[in-house]
Amino acid sequence: MKVLFAAAEVAPFSKAGGLADVVGSLPKYIEKKAQIAIFTPLHGLIDTEKWGIKELENSELWLTFGNQGHKFRLFMCKLPGTDINVFFVHNDWYFTCFKEVYPKWLDPRYEHERYIAFSLAVMEYAKLLNFKADIIHANDWHTAMIPVYLHSNYRYDEYWQHTKTVFEIHNLAYQGVWFEDVLDFANMRKDIVYNEWGVEHYGKVNWMKGAINYSDRIVAVSPTYAREILTGEYGEGMDYTLRGARYKLRGILNGIDYDAFNPKKDKTLVKNYDVKTLKYKEDNKKAICEKFGLKYNPDRPLIACITRLVPQKGIDLIRDSENAMKDTNADYIFLGSGNKDYENLLIWLSNNSDNIRAYIGYNGELANQIYAASDFYLMPSKFEPCGLSQLIAMRYGSLPIVRATGGLEDTVVGYPLNDSTGFKFWTYNGFDMMQAVNCAIEVYKDKYTFNAMRKSAMEADFSWKKSSDEYLNMYKELANK
Ligand code: ADP
Repeated sequence: MKVLFAAAEVAPFSKAGGLADVVGSLPKYIEKKAQIAIFTPLHGLIDTEKWGIKELENSELWLTFGNQGHKFRLFMCKLPGTDINVFFVHNDWYFTCFKEVYPKWLDPRYEHERYIAFSLAVMEYAKLLNFKADIIHANDWHTAMIPVYLHSNYRYDEYWQHTKTVFEIHNLAYQGVWFEDVLDFANMRKDIVYNEWGVEHYGKVNWMKGAINYSDRIVAVSPTYAREILTGEYGEGMDYTLRGARYKLRGILNGIDYDAFNPKKDKTLVKNYDVKTLKYKEDNKKAICEKFGLKYNPDRPLIACITRLVPQKGIDLIRDSENAMKDTNADYIFLGSGNKDYENLLIWLSNNSDNIRAYIGYNGELANQIYAASDFYLMPSKFEPCGLSQLIAMRYGSLPIVRATGGLEDTVVGYPLNDSTGFKFWTYNGFDMMQAVNCAIEVYKDKYTFNAMRKSAMEADFSWKKSSDEYLNMYKELANK
């Protein structure tokens, strides 16, 4: 069985969020049971030397979009530690010129062109390489054009007749919406795709809707999120369409790469530890407190938050609770970047309190050090498709304090249940969040309970083993159809 993954970001080469982690780790777990190819853009930030990414000979390809011709080249390397081929689509005009995966301030029309160009290039390169996929697994709106292309442009193409598509929703909030003229750029036939059973949504093109309508299976990244997106509250205007497609919708929980996230082997830590040598975790806490100018005190818990600073992540609740946070007997460290208002809020808090510190920017190494140093991990998301941060936090023995939504509801067992691994609150407001935080601070004083919870969290299994089987079964079921 051949499976083709297409995604805008793939860890460890390019990463902005959880999507990269998923596409960079799930294939490892199905490598032995399927032949895999991963396609992703060659973003300018990807270090080709570090990863040994080489250009394939004679890979130049010209494609026409509307009346514009664009040149592509194809690069390749192996996914580290595996035999899986990762193909990087090179295009100077759209991708290689940027040092970010999602550059800010791009014109939205241009943003659409980038991913339309990438999606078509993936289909054409797969053909050139003769990788006749049984399953194409597309992810989020950036590659949502692929199932639409299969339905329109490749409809009568012999080569793709037996290919089935899986479309995975990592985040329904970003759907890829633009005016219908973009279909001309995509060389798509309006009479086939521009209708309410295709890509049309309230008078505009909506790529995600197209993928939902044309894919053979839709996957949401956690069972609770798969249910939530059928409702008006979480459906982002797509709930009606999704309810119609419910028969092919599945919720499969993401896993994390247990080799990449391992406090026992993580080279970025001051001192390595595991569940049996938790006392060494304190050395990491000491070091990070020093780094951030906080006074280390073993009786004060350290609460961390590492996130994109966008409304989804519940930063509003932090703003609402700033005074309450200053009054608690705990220290807080934030690591994040994104929305300027939120960045300014955190900088202001950092400069005007004794117990809150922030680092604005993206820093993978520092992230791991903070996971290892912290006692609790705050994640007050408004919605959370799956969330990987809480899984990483648990792996590093930092207990999540979460709003019980989406994947957070599925992965955290809230105190005081048996074998609890974290703390939950339900209503989206600062008061409820602080109640959960205060509960955590109280439990921290009771070392017996705290250590038992830590052990449960570190021993909880969120590796890909279970979820990858679910994906494999779904692929097999489709391929045999
Ligand atoms: P999302 O995909 O919505 O951003 P997830 O929790 O699924 O949220 O995944 C976020 C991933 O990105 C985690 O691995 C987290 O550690 C990492 N991350 C987020 N912000 C930063 C940052 N500023 N620096 C380093 N890592 C970050």
